[in-house]
Amino acid sequence: MIDVKQGIGMTSKRTRDRLVQRLRDQGIRSEAVLGQICDVPRHLFVDEALASRAYEDTALPIGLGQTISQPYVVARMTEALLNGFQGETVLEIGTGCGYQTAVLAALVKRIYTVERIPELLRKTRQRLRDLDIYNVQFRPGDGWEGWRKYGPYDGIIVTAAADEIPERLLEQLSANGRLIIPVGPPGGQELTMVTNRDDHYEQVSLGLVSFVPLVRGK
Ligand code: SAH
Repeated sequence: MIDVKQGIGMTSKRTRDRLVQRLRDQGIRSEAVLGQICDVPRHLFVDEALASRAYEDTALPIGLGQTISQPYVVARMTEALLNGFQGETVLEIGTGCGYQTAVLAALVKRIYTVERIPELLRKTRQRLRDLDIYNVQFRPGDGWEGWRKYGPYDGIIVTAAADEIPERLLEQLSANGRLIIPVGPPGGQELTMVTNRDDHYEQVSLGLVSFVPLVRGK
């Protein structure tokens, strides 16, 4: 019997190992993160027609004008979020197909994730359940507002591009909590890491990325 989580041919262990090696070569160091890139079956997050390309290091379309993030960028953001991480809860903005969510799920205790397209969220909820991922809570809504109910969060990760850092998200960061967010205009953004220090927000740039926009309002 074919185990859908293992895959065959273009989705095999060997194909995934190649992707992991590529990310290693590009400077991803966290074995925990690389392990997740290897374990999470990315071909189950894209349309069947694109499954053969699922382990290439590129973003791919997932319908409704949205994309699945490039594995390198997912790995980079996850590594940055978890480097020195001492918390339990993470808020994710921009669930999309849930690939980033799945990569994070085994590495943190609890994830709260917000997506503005309910149809996408419905499918993703089912997909993660099918993969036996249960430590994620989903909410349809506007990510600019965060999710106050379960905050403050030890980490916040935003997987859509904001033209400025959302004030509400800063307010929902716990002490020493860390926000990873692409900031800038459509087409190219600065991946930004903000840490909530005692008396200020420390800001570091992690390089250039390109995400779909974090849409404002409805
Ligand atoms: N995390 C995904 C990629 C997400 S693409 C992955 O792992 O592949 C960005 C997602 O952000 C899209 O699904 C889009 O609908 C969502 N999004 C855009 N603006 C938003 C907003 N204001 N609030 C919540 N989600 C938003």
